[in-house]
Amino acid sequence: MEDFQYLWNQVKSKLQEQLAPQTYEQTFSEVKYVGKVENNIGYVIVPNDLIKKKLNHIFINNIQQLTKKISNKNISFKFVLESEIKQTQIPTYSKLSNNNLNPNYSFSSFVVGESNRFAYLTAEKVAEQPGIFVNPLYIFGGVGLGKTHLMQAIGNYIIENNPETKLVYVQANDYLHDYTKATRDNNMKAFEEKYENIDVFLIDDIQMLTEKNGTQQQFFKLFNDMSNHEKQIIITSDCAASKLNGFMDRLTSRFQMGLSVNINQPDLQQRINIIKKKLEESSNKKLDDDIILYIAESFTDNVRELEGALNRVILYADLYNTSPTLSMARDALEVLIKAKKPIDDNPNYEDALSVIANMYNITVADILGNSRLSKFVLPRHIAMYILKNHYNLKCTQIAKILNNKDHTTILNGCKKISNELETNEDLKIAIDTILKKCR
Ligand code: ADP
Ligand code: MG
Repeated sequence: MEDFQYLWNQVKSKLQEQLAPQTYEQTFSEVKYVGKVENNIGYVIVPNDLIKKKLNHIFINNIQQLTKKISNKNISFKFVLESEIKQTQIPTYSKLSNNNLNPNYSFSSFVVGESNRFAYLTAEKVAEQPGIFVNPLYIFGGVGLGKTHLMQAIGNYIIENNPETKLVYVQANDYLHDYTKATRDNNMKAFEEKYENIDVFLIDDIQMLTEKNGTQQQFFKLFNDMSNHEKQIIITSDCAASKLNGFMDRLTSRFQMGLSVNINQPDLQQRINIIKKKLEESSNKKLDDDIILYIAESFTDNVRELEGALNRVILYADLYNTSPTLSMARDALEVLIKAKKPIDDNPNYEDALSVIANMYNITVADILGNSRLSKFVLPRHIAMYILKNHYNLKCTQIAKILNNKDHTTILNGCKKISNELETNEDLKIAIDTILKKCR
């Protein structure tokens, strides 16, 4: 427990360095004590529901990154009210385990409709009979449509039914990074330990597994080894296997050996159901039907954006301490909806924003916002750079799109990226990938 308290104090002082003083003061000043430790999770006591929500939903990724950086262990923090600590079980968090799956990504929290029914039914079967029903399962579809959620739902189900399963979930670019690092440092041991004797392998966003130093060859070996032993492989991708660019043919043909399922954009009814489900999950918040309809009609093609819009409305209402109204929802979402509309003769810049948001697992709202958390700042700078250099927008136009930042902020952001590009190969790959996807 003392270790956790010490670590939390350290995380807090890092946050104090990163955040605007007012934000830090308002959110973290009363968040001091670790009240309980269980399964490598420190439960930190918060003074009220609003702060709890802010921490668990808005700051959580940043806190996790800092924790990992400082402790180098598989430790995390959750934020709870004191009354919750007193109960012996904390139901929502009790399922967390060490395989870095998000416990909220379950089958029961996944809303099924025409756009994803086949994928969902297949996923359930794979979860019931891993390694037997189909191998590999290849899930593809556009950004923010629930591929990661569905894949992790399979993982969570398997672990719940058989906790002994060695399951690895990895983003393809992290796999690439792990392998490149192992070969560069001439240290294969850690890499092999992580990827050996796996029962279930979930590899997310396979399109990122660009060829580097024989990475695809290495993955090919792992793939064959696993499928020969009837070990389940699940892959997600932004396109069909046959359309993957820059992949070895024998790899893409292996991907096609199993079953490919597609997730499409949800229709209006499904979007409404998704909003209702998310409301239910966030401690039974209520929204009037006209507000739900307004959000569902305004955000049509990406569930992550839809969710981001919903959270924004709820947060707005929380901050003003009233129940949400339609006109408040309009206010809260105005900038996001404006950003979706093309300006003048640059019809596609909003694609770039959503591609960037998706790549960094944040929302367009985060890019347009003002948070100085590092996980938002880099993507925001990349957005500035791309809008300026590839969409040829003027700084004043970009400033307007990015929610009225001033034009020197934009210039500085662009400069940061240009400088960084001179030495940072990963960033170059990231930007090339974004541009490729925007075309
Ligand atoms: P992708 O991996 O396809 O980019 P994600 O799985 O990350 O998308 O989904 C983005 C967000 O939208 C997640 O928070 C996820 O829970 C939510 N989401 C997507 N589809 C659904 C769905 N059918 N039901 C409930 N939530 C969904
Ligand atoms: Mg994903």
